[in-house]
Amino acid sequence: MKLIEATKYCKICFNQIKDNSFYSLLHKDNLLCEKCFSSLKARFINFKIGNINSIAIYDYDDTIKKLIYTFKGCYDYELKDVFLNRYLTYLRIKYAGYVLVPIPSSEIDDQKRGFNHVKEMFSALKLPYIDVLRKNNNEKQSAKSSKDRLNIDNILVEQNINILYGKKVLIIDDIYTTGATMFKAIQLVKKANPKVIKVLVVAKTIDLKKR
Ligand SMILES: [Zn+2]
Repeated sequence: MKLIEATKYCKICFNQIKDNSFYSLLHKDNLLCEKCFSSLKARFINFKIGNINSIAIYDYDDTIKKLIYTFKGCYDYELKDVFLNRYLTYLRIKYAGYVLVPIPSSEIDDQKRGFNHVKEMFSALKLPYIDVLRKNNNEKQSAKSSKDRLNIDNILVEQNINILYGKKVLIIDDIYTTGATMFKAIQLVKKANPKVIKVLVVAKTIDLKKR
């Protein structure tokens, strides 16, 4: 006997998701066809930022780069859930009891986009967000020399950071590149004396030095 279900289409390629795949049978919230899913190549890369345990779900390869760009740069809101989709059960267990602290975008970018891309990418975790970090708008990075840009003290500022006292904090971002912003965020969060700090990013640029 087969139950009648609405036909589902892959969020990335729009092809019909065949409900005869093993995964699809078990997971009704599946958003991706097998082809797109296997093109994403999640790697769950463990790395340290100082003493902070960090995980990047993907390498920042061409596929992920294009997908993030379509979502974030072309405002394709429908892609928000594809990045974590098949790992939600695992991630919800791993980070149960954590609060999310997103690395902020500039408020102007968020307004233009109509959504905050980092918050949306991680929203399916159903964990509370605590907005305690803010981009320092007085420091327009592009207007500065590359030497000044290395001065990370001006990237982020905190507000009401003490609200994180005693909490399990998961700092989240879309792309980890130089790590300067994340490093600054960790420094600010540490001031509140949270119980634990961890980092989860969608993608990390490939570090050729360490391979
Ligand atoms: Zn697809």
